[in-house]
Amino acid sequence: MLATLRTIAESVSQQADLDSALVCFVQMVKEAMKTQCCSIYFADYSQDNFVLMATEGLNPDAVGKFRIGFTEGLVGLVAQREEPINIAFAKSHPRFKLSPEVNEEGYNAFLSVPVVHQKKVLGVIVVQQKMARVFSQDEESFLITLSAQLASQLAHAEIKEVLRQDESSHQTSVLKGVSSAPGIGIGQAFVVLPKLDFSSIELKKVTDVTEQTRLFTQAVAATRKEFNSLSMTLSDSIPKEALAVFEVYQQLLDTKSLGQNVEAQLYEGWCAKSALKIVIERLISQFNAMQDPYIKERAVDVKDIGLRVLHHLVNTEQTVKDYPKNTILIANTLTPAMLAEVPKGLLAGVVSVNGSANSHASILTRAMGIPAIWGIEDLPLLQFDAKPMILDAYAGRLYISPSQVLLDEYRALQHQESILNNRFLDEQESDPITKDGHYISLRLNAGLDLNPEHSNAHICDGVGLYRTEAWFMQKGQFPSQIEQENWYREVLKSYYPNPVVMRTLDIGGDKVLDYFNITEENPFLGWRGIRISLDHPELFLDQLKAMIKANMGLGNLKIMLPMISTTDEVDEALALFEQAYFELSEKQPQESIERPNIGIMLEVPSSVFMIPEWAQKVDFCSVGSNDLTQYLLAVDRANARVAELFNPYHPGVLRVLNKVASECKDLTLPFSLCGELGGDPEGAILLIAMGYRRLSMNLSSLIKVKWVLRRLTVSDMEKLLSECLAQSNAKQVLRLTRNFMIEHQLGELFYTPK
Ligand code: PEP
Ligand code: MG
Repeated sequence: MLATLRTIAESVSQQADLDSALVCFVQMVKEAMKTQCCSIYFADYSQDNFVLMATEGLNPDAVGKFRIGFTEGLVGLVAQREEPINIAFAKSHPRFKLSPEVNEEGYNAFLSVPVVHQKKVLGVIVVQQKMARVFSQDEESFLITLSAQLASQLAHAEIKEVLRQDESSHQTSVLKGVSSAPGIGIGQAFVVLPKLDFSSIELKKVTDVTEQTRLFTQAVAATRKEFNSLSMTLSDSIPKEALAVFEVYQQLLDTKSLGQNVEAQLYEGWCAKSALKIVIERLISQFNAMQDPYIKERAVDVKDIGLRVLHHLVNTEQTVKDYPKNTILIANTLTPAMLAEVPKGLLAGVVSVNGSANSHASILTRAMGIPAIWGIEDLPLLQFDAKPMILDAYAGRLYISPSQVLLDEYRALQHQESILNNRFLDEQESDPITKDGHYISLRLNAGLDLNPEHSNAHICDGVGLYRTEAWFMQKGQFPSQIEQENWYREVLKSYYPNPVVMRTLDIGGDKVLDYFNITEENPFLGWRGIRISLDHPELFLDQLKAMIKANMGLGNLKIMLPMISTTDEVDEALALFEQAYFELSEKQPQESIERPNIGIMLEVPSSVFMIPEWAQKVDFCSVGSNDLTQYLLAVDRANARVAELFNPYHPGVLRVLNKVASECKDLTLPFSLCGELGGDPEGAILLIAMGYRRLSMNLSSLIKVKWVLRRLTVSDMEKLLSECLAQSNAKQVLRLTRNFMIEHQLGELFYTPK
């Protein structure tokens, strides 16, 4: 059964368009299940009915025409119940509806399963047979498995179809994602292709061996040409012996080595890219298995050559990037580096197919004030390139080829948005004091945008979280101590005399360094943050020393440790900090080296219960609500599939945040919060009510939160909080906070376009 399931899924995925995929599907299922009829219906939500999309066994003329209402017939019942129906005599079922146009009178046995993707019924598969019988449990499971397997393929095909129709009818299409940075972007799509790698190539079989052989030969010829011109260009600047490497490369490309092996795979029916992948990966593992270090090294050459040929096969290399004036950047998985490449001022919006609103790249878009949406699953990237589009990152919608009416409507909204923003700007230098006189210290989250100097120092009380890892991510190797010292000093100087809380390296999870390979099954539960620093004291000591030295003569540094989960980690980190401080003081006895405050992040659930012990050891703590939410709710913050479950307004999360505040107050341990929740006006007021008097957030959130809190009293916020804490789900909490804002004349903050 497993082999049949795989063959069906593979064959369907290789079809060029949705219609052929569905035809292929019904034919193969009918054959595999040895029945007389298989049909597939698609849900049309605009008309509340199902349309027959493909059939083997019913009237072929009814395809595309026959429709049955969502609440009609057995098809409707399967969708309503979202479970299979397996009956021997369909006609005797009370919900059976005779539809003469499909010619199904002759069939008795009826097995049907819904096709569900992300809670949404996409369609219904029906298998029928003349002989009255109940299908076996095995047959039922087979169809259920097939439907689950194909649901995402069909969802993907559905999106492709939307785009195809848009192309031919010049209509606007709309796709949905999860909003991560609010706002409206109007512009032209620019698709960033992922870095080409063999892991991203899916194995695929085809029938046209000659064509695939031609493509491969052509790619090899182009690669040879590339090597020739590379060796010519370099011939003056590198020694002759080094040039010999190109000869070796040319030999590897020869028919006898790479060529022959790839051809053998092509004859097996693999397409050129798949054949190349199979051969290169096999060669790499053969070389890697060698004892001799010199031969082992050749694996790198093989990979390099393979990738070059692959580039010519795929022809995806974007040499000169010509970003349009209002770029809507679209990527499979957006990275901070992709964002950094777009010249300042050209970026109007961001769309990432994978990842979620809580990933670090997404936090960066918020910091930059760029509208962004995430998680438009299975988006066929290339079909988007250069298309005009509107990104509505309030509603999480992407409009492709928008009509003039829609454009006018969204331009008007953009205008209103900028009026509101100007009102925030008008008050950006005012004090962050509530109507009943409470001062709320607002600090910046910085570091992700890689800018050491900030002109915004005067509107905030310093930096509450400086993410040092973003700068490390830009480098080709670990920066030296002196390089780090200079960088940190620039940052400290920009905010002087206000404090800058610098966080030690927090890599791992979704933050990787190209030069420090970490491959793990569960990176967010793996080697991350302080765990790496403690395993590499040489790196940690370097960073601590660079920070302490950068602080000389300034004194506004505070150091913060990420991802602390055990007392041992606190102790070991503090011991290394003492060592760094001691060694520096010993080296420079005549200069006074200040001892900065050192604190921890509370972002792992265990840390919340250790506050009394750790309060004796550290100077302050700051809640990382992004990770705390992730770990409390067991929701991967970067996974689009579970993005809707990531909700810091979950009463469970709010109760934990409240507990942290009251414990820290009792212990007089200075505390703050630097996760994204604090930058959300509704989150900020709940936190203030809990007793947080120091919040840290990105710049655009800071001016908005300042504006909001100046219009409210803490006593009103406290009343709201006690109601919220008594709720049993996040929806109820958000309804209360939204109503509260509306009652206090702050409803305009949530204006959501229709
Ligand atoms: C957090 O986890 O809330 C936090 C501020 O750190 P980061 O988002 O960088 O993991
Ligand atoms: Mg964190």
